[in-house]
Amino acid sequence: MAFQLPALPYAVDALEPFMDAKTVTVHHDGHHATYTNNLNALLENHPDLQAKSIEDILRNLNDVPEEIRTAVRNQGGGYGNHNFFWTIMGPNGGGEPSAELAAAIARDFGSFDAFKQQFTKAATTHFGSGWAWLVADGTGKLSVLSTANQDSPYSNGLTPLLTLDVWEHAYYLKYQSKRADFINAWWNLVNWNQVAEYHADSRK
Ligand code: MN
Repeated sequence: MAFQLPALPYAVDALEPFMDAKTVTVHHDGHHATYTNNLNALLENHPDLQAKSIEDILRNLNDVPEEIRTAVRNQGGGYGNHNFFWTIMGPNGGGEPSAELAAAIARDFGSFDAFKQQFTKAATTHFGSGWAWLVADGTGKLSVLSTANQDSPYSNGLTPLLTLDVWEHAYYLKYQSKRADFINAWWNLVNWNQVAEYHADSRK
């Protein structure tokens, strides 16, 4: 298998009570594993693509043969988005970023609260399945956006720094239809040290 399902960087119950162990298990061992398997099946006869990182593939979808391009966009996006998603959460999360990331957020959004409001709105109002993102562009400017289905900001030349999965499978078991409650609770899980690391990497 070219692409491996990464192990969770914490125990399945580490995100309680904001994200319950059952949701994490179904999400990681079920949905994320399925994207991984489907991507590997798609690329079975494409060793050139197997040799690339998922970020590289998503950045250059036009290099993927047309007959599998949409499927790779969906399954590869699902694989890469979830890889990233698990890393920006953790126990003892929440609060606010510090230092350079805090300064960049203040510069581009006015304040942390304004950023938080904008991200929350993107996540809450995104219609249907998708993701909310904090991204950096090539000049280092930060912005908030949402993507549909499993689309990745990499495919638009942007570098993700933070994301929230707003597919129903991310919250339905615990929050049912109350996506807004899930989003409010999720802020308590954000691992700002990791986000700051992604921000520093994006500036190299
Ligand atoms: Mn998901």
